[in-house]
Amino acid sequence: MAVPKRKTSKARRDKRRANWKLLIPGMVECPNCGDYKMPHRVCKACGYYNGKEVVKKEA
Ligand SMILES: [Zn+2]
Repeated sequence: MAVPKRKTSKARRDKRRANWKLLIPGMVECPNCGDYKMPHRVCKACGYYNGKEVVKKEA
């Protein structure tokens, strides 16, 4: 069984967690408008998915 050679220091552990969960898990940036959207879903801000507009944005 693999065993860590060194205990992870508090500083290293905390640095690793510093950039973690800043966003809600499962949020990706929309390549069209840059807003955050659910992965594999049409962007609710611009209605784009896979490089084209699939849902017309309501006025
Ligand atoms: Zn978008």
